[in-house]
Amino acid sequence: MSFDEGSVVVAELDAVSDDTGMRWAIGLDLGGSSLKAGLVSMDGSIREFQRTPIDRLAGPQSLLDLMETEIDRLASEAALRGFSPTGVGVGCPGSIERASGRIHKSPNFRGWEGFPLRERLTRITNYPIFLANDVNAAALGELKFGAGEDYDNFVMITLGTGVGGALVIDGRLYDGAQGFAGEIGHMVVDPEGPECPCGNRGCLERLVGAEALVVRALELLKDSDDSGPLASFPADEITPRRIGLAALDGDAVARKVLSEMGRWLGLTLISIINVLDPDCILVGGGIAQAGPPLFNAIRKTVGDHPMSGSARVVPIVTATLGPRAGTIGAGALALWPELTTAP
Ligand SMILES: [Zn+2]
Repeated sequence: MSFDEGSVVVAELDAVSDDTGMRWAIGLDLGGSSLKAGLVSMDGSIREFQRTPIDRLAGPQSLLDLMETEIDRLASEAALRGFSPTGVGVGCPGSIERASGRIHKSPNFRGWEGFPLRERLTRITNYPIFLANDVNAAALGELKFGAGEDYDNFVMITLGTGVGGALVIDGRLYDGAQGFAGEIGHMVVDPEGPECPCGNRGCLERLVGAEALVVRALELLKDSDDSGPLASFPADEITPRRIGLAALDGDAVARKVLSEMGRWLGLTLISIINVLDPDCILVGGGIAQAGPPLFNAIRKTVGDHPMSGSARVVPIVTATLGPRAGTIGAGALALWPELTTAP
């Protein structure tokens, strides 16, 4: 056995745990406006978290370069602490073909359709790569460390620019035959509703996504002589966040927008509850912080329909990990691949 300094250093860098025996992974969460990255441990803590703004229209190569920079940065930080990350987990918007690791569709990112993301990441790093849709990654984070911790069966809905969904069944992520399950935002809830880029009409996302909320608020403001907090903003400064805050302030227009949103969500959840019989529904995304004005409408709609809930009330609660859920969940993909159907 050699005691030369070189092999000691190599042995330290090969250690897969820190000095307390904990394993860590690199978590990357690619979103519409930023890449969030950090080192994630088995107890859910996150270190060296960094959010880097991105241009989602810049094409895959520039985003791949940024991911490489972040993987290198986090690997160096881990090396300074004397361990090597277990792997790299990546949460990515759109649908991802499980078998090939290719992006199937990612409508908000230019040039990503068909991009072999897992293969390209494998080429630039020696770490094992674990890919998932961003909402699936966030749901895994909630399952391990958030509002889903006490449940084996839950459905997560995220409300933002888009409306995302994820399914946890028997304590594992369920992503379907090819990896595309959980697209709750594209459930058709109003066949006469607005057209959706997916090709259907009246998808949930077209009715409760960020754009729809703003359009509806402007419509209602135009028709009313309401002088609540929302009416004091110029039209181009009405955002879902402002609608949420105004609703909490008692603004009548904002409350009506959230109450209609809650009704659409409730109608969708009735179908989901009847199909899956989950323990719980988690609702994430910025507008979920609006709390009672939204949740009361969801719960009332679900509760008003006798078939739903099959003689029990399914809790509908907010997700708890917040803006870091995606990064923590991406790390969890690499730490617990057995909780996914990743190949
Ligand atoms: Zn659609």
